[in-house]
Amino acid sequence: MARRKKIYEGKAKILYEGPEPGTIVQYFKDDATAFNAQKKATIEGKGVLNNRLSEFFMTGLNNIGVPTHFIRRLNMREQLCRSCEIIPLEIIVRNFAAGSLSKRLGVEEGAQLPRPIVEYCYKDDALGDPLVSEEHIAAFGWASQQDMDDIVHLALRVNDFLSGVMMAVGIKLVDFKIEIGRVYEGDFQRLVVADEISPDSCRLWDIETGAHLDKDVFRRDLGSLTDAYTEVARRLGVIPQTTGVSKPTLIN
Ligand code: UDP
Repeated sequence: MARRKKIYEGKAKILYEGPEPGTIVQYFKDDATAFNAQKKATIEGKGVLNNRLSEFFMTGLNNIGVPTHFIRRLNMREQLCRSCEIIPLEIIVRNFAAGSLSKRLGVEEGAQLPRPIVEYCYKDDALGDPLVSEEHIAAFGWASQQDMDDIVHLALRVNDFLSGVMMAVGIKLVDFKIEIGRVYEGDFQRLVVADEISPDSCRLWDIETGAHLDKDVFRRDLGSLTDAYTEVARRLGVIPQTTGVSKPTLIN
């Protein structure tokens, strides 16, 4: 690979300048962090799996008319994306109670919510990504009212798509986080789903057993993260099924 110019290095990915103006390359690392990077590990193969899984979800969204920054996967760990200006919000959509919502509101983990709930966190590691309301977003000018309408619309479409895709393979989509970027086209701007969609940023529970198939495996020390992500990828047909070792045939 020719040396690319690094734009930014985050916890799980590195962004490089893309080959053409208006493009970037996302490189998926094997690093895992949790609890605002207080817990860290390198998990061999995670980056490769997330690159493939994010490609799968973003391609599906593009195909149903939900715009994303994803252009194409380049290799095992890299994908080409449109460069965009990230809105400094984490958009969280929840279908079942879990994690911080359960803690905050005392709702039992796994309880079905009366309807999907959209939450916003201000992206700031030093502050621990605090929960904010639309009032904060408008007052501090992080997004306009029109942006917010578009963001909710995009987030709910992503939720319906992901919920259906996961349900078809026996997995419950408990919640997920997305990031939204602005893409400029002449004088116009439009919003696209950016960053990544992978088990790092979703809660995925096996419908039959309730087993966690997401980053909670790492957060809560529940076993092998690679095995969990591989299981998601296998069910979605993103990586070929292993059909056992085929024996060599003797040719006379
Ligand atoms: N999430 C994420 N990045 C963050 C915070 C949350 O991807 O910085 C995802 C998380 O994986 C889960 C959803 O957003 O799928 C809701 O997370 P929650 O607010 O419950 O936070 P947590 O319990 O993980 O602290």
